[in-house]
Amino acid sequence: MQTSTDQARHILKATFGYDDFRHHQADIIDALINGQDVLTLMPTGGGKSICYQIPALIRSGTAIVISPLIALMQDQVDALKQLGVSAAFLNSTLNAGEQREVEDKLRSGQLDLLYMAPERLLNHQMLNMLDRCKISLFAIDEAHCVSQWGHDFRKEYQQLSMLHERYPEVPRIALTATADARTRGEIIHQLALHQAGIFVNSFDRPNIHYAISEAGNGRDALWHFLSDNHANDAGIVYCLSRKNVEATAEWLNEKGRTALPYHAGLAQEVRSRHQQRFLREDGLIIVATIAFGMGIDKPDVRFVAHMNLPKNIESYYQETGRAGRDGLPSDAWMSYGLQDVINLRLFIEKSDADEQFKRVMLQKTDAMLGLCELTGCRRQALLAYFDETLAEPCGNCDNCLSPPETWDATIAAQKVLSCVYRTGERFGAQYVIDVLTGKSSERIKHNDHDKLSTFAIGGEHSGAEWRGIFRQLIAHGYLVADAEGYGVLKLTQKAWPLLKRDCAESVRLRRLSKPASTRTKKT
Ligand code: ADP
Ligand code: ZN
Repeated sequence: MQTSTDQARHILKATFGYDDFRHHQADIIDALINGQDVLTLMPTGGGKSICYQIPALIRSGTAIVISPLIALMQDQVDALKQLGVSAAFLNSTLNAGEQREVEDKLRSGQLDLLYMAPERLLNHQMLNMLDRCKISLFAIDEAHCVSQWGHDFRKEYQQLSMLHERYPEVPRIALTATADARTRGEIIHQLALHQAGIFVNSFDRPNIHYAISEAGNGRDALWHFLSDNHANDAGIVYCLSRKNVEATAEWLNEKGRTALPYHAGLAQEVRSRHQQRFLREDGLIIVATIAFGMGIDKPDVRFVAHMNLPKNIESYYQETGRAGRDGLPSDAWMSYGLQDVINLRLFIEKSDADEQFKRVMLQKTDAMLGLCELTGCRRQALLAYFDETLAEPCGNCDNCLSPPETWDATIAAQKVLSCVYRTGERFGAQYVIDVLTGKSSERIKHNDHDKLSTFAIGGEHSGAEWRGIFRQLIAHGYLVADAEGYGVLKLTQKAWPLLKRDCAESVRLRRLSKPASTRTKKT
């Protein structure tokens, strides 16, 4: 007799054309076929889809796939139809006649897979219809959307726990590419997956080269990076604001690249046209806010460039993970500056979220900053954040390939802290830098700050160097940007021992590097 494993292997080859299962795919498929619930955490591109598609073909009935990404349903269903699988989707892009046709197929048991958004599934009519159908399994894609701490929170996802009560005999699989322990716990709790088999794949993306640098002018750095490494490649450039998205796209076009903007302020029709061109044409650059990319399945994205700090490591990992899904060498490149560090904290502190939420968000921001200012292997730190241990430094990140120089910045730090203190903790970084470097502007004279003992004591560093020092002192927790005062810098508890010189502590900072532009391999 053919076991379910043999059957799965046969379908893998006959329908999907692959010889072997990857990682945990075989175990996941086995569990589902046998009626067990499953939670799977796998990086983007890891091969989540066939984990439910193959069981959908083996178990009798229709598999209901819940996905928040209406734009992607069409692509996935088209791909399945090409393979000869009977699949369909239900969403607002269908007209009444088309919807009825899909519903008829569902009722008569002709569908192996049916994709829909959670709000559609939770609709009474839909549930009543499903009550009368044979359902093989529920696949809950992008399951991290249940997490209210995450970047894609959707409240309908939290109601999906009802599937368990309404259809206790139907196995469920929850899938996500977000893997921190907190999110994992929330998925299990919210979706009532306490009995589920949990399968966690390595989150390492060894073909992605990570590089993070601070740069005075992000655009120049970006241009160097592109012309040195990706003169003709397709990639994504992420900017924080819509305005910057537009301006950067325009600038890249002037430079001779084909670049298209993508953000939530553009008409839906423009957005989908740009997305389609990105998928179909070679060498195109999409300049986007984070509105772009969830579920984009383009295998040959050769680089993802960040012009600002992402707000946490999960976002950084997800966004950079869109590079190199085909397994070929790819770059995750970032350039950030002092203002990013300040803005990120201000944004959280000024939001009207409750205190606990803000605290969690600030911790996440600090972890992101820690990754940026790190002098060791980026990949080890990134994976450690997802509770994964990489035994050796990776040899494929900027810090591994050219270890950053550090310097004893104790005296510089003391000058900064002292100058912040003496100007009354009432000014932003640029003003304090002007005092340190001895610029006698009207404002400084008006405040009598040209008479301070800390006026013009910082001539040994340029303005750009001082900005780097300020940024790192904020990142290391000696200074905070005050939310009330739009970036006014204040001293922290940690600053005092250093300022009073009553500690033996020395401050070591990264020396400002040349923007990481070339991916020179160690030989
Ligand atoms: P995810 O949803 O995890 O991002 P997909 O399910 O889209 O990933 O799979 C990513 C790519 O890997 C797809 O092109 C898919 O066809 C391919 N793939 C999945 N499983 C296998 C396998 N066992 N062998 C070879 N390729 C596979
Ligand atoms: Zn490394």
